[in-house]
Amino acid sequence: MEQRIFRTKPATCAVIGSTGSIGTQTLEVIDHLSKQGFSIRVVGMAANNNPVFAEQLKTFRPAGYCFNGPLTEIPEAVRRFESVESMLEAERPDFTVIASSGGVSLSYALKAAETSRRICLANKESVVLGGRLIPERVKALGKELIPVDSEHSGLFQLLLGTDPSEIQMAYITASGGALRDWDVSKKEDATVEQVLRHPNWKMGAKITVDSATLMNKALEMIEAKFLFGLPTEKIGVAFCHNSFIHALIAYRDGHYKMHAGMPDMRIPIAYAFTCPERVSAPEGHDVIRDGYNGLFEPILLKPADPEAHPALRLARTVLEEPNALRIALNAANEAAVQLFLEKRVSFGEVTRIVEKAVSSQEAWEIESPSEILEFHEEIKRRVRCAYV
Ligand code: MG
Repeated sequence: MEQRIFRTKPATCAVIGSTGSIGTQTLEVIDHLSKQGFSIRVVGMAANNNPVFAEQLKTFRPAGYCFNGPLTEIPEAVRRFESVESMLEAERPDFTVIASSGGVSLSYALKAAETSRRICLANKESVVLGGRLIPERVKALGKELIPVDSEHSGLFQLLLGTDPSEIQMAYITASGGALRDWDVSKKEDATVEQVLRHPNWKMGAKITVDSATLMNKALEMIEAKFLFGLPTEKIGVAFCHNSFIHALIAYRDGHYKMHAGMPDMRIPIAYAFTCPERVSAPEGHDVIRDGYNGLFEPILLKPADPEAHPALRLARTVLEEPNALRIALNAANEAAVQLFLEKRVSFGEVTRIVEKAVSSQEAWEIESPSEILEFHEEIKRRVRCAYV
């Protein structure tokens, strides 16, 4: 997209999942970019039942909104829509940021491919469930898909101008989550409070639990395969404890390119709006000047052995199978993490629930997005029913 035009005329944007961690940071970035002459007007907002939404409506005054809950005060001229899809259809924003959580975002992203020029995709489940569906729809309609997830933003930037045949390996990094230095035997009974104490990133509860089980990285491996069309055997995971390196490409001639950045989601969010331009980091980061904690220590990258981490092993397994297994993995994980957050199952149980769901799943291919979502909900229900 030719970005310079937005310096003379505001671009329009819809933020789906505006009250979540990525959603609130997106609104902050929009505000910041607008002050840098990269003017973006929010025309659509959607969120689940979160009281913060009323405040956001007042501040951003979008043309339309979609909200799953009661609202007492609604600013004048703001229209309520029954679904995210109908809001996107009516508002047709230049940008749609998919910052919502859960598999249902697949449907939002597919709609956004029709109605928007660029999709800034922060939701990984939609790619895990849909596989090539979103990238193919975006391509067929001549639109743009820019990943927001930090590792995938990193890979996206590294892959610009790269011939895929020159890639030996593409790595995404993992911090290892809150329990990375724990003894395997102690991890089993880690509490919700312990698991939610992430060393580097401030994120929502689900993804913070996923970081500790490494399921987040498993989902990201799947995401990388479909977003960039990489073969499974060329996608690797490396541990980087301070989360300064997000992605790395090993070329077949022995060169490596690494993508580094502060563990601050506002940076990849801003890039998803402005790329190919680079505008400015929210706080004018300069890690050399500011001495980012740990940066001057050697940055250690350690390969993650998929055999030692059940989540990574599962990702490799499901990537080589029909999509029912991938969908089962995501659904069982969503249900299991919820059960853990409700303190109904132990931390160790989370991964075992997912392993069981995948190994007992028959391998078949589900074609349509609505059937994919139905199947996903069915597995979630099934897993939950066994414990509640
Ligand atoms: Mg990530």
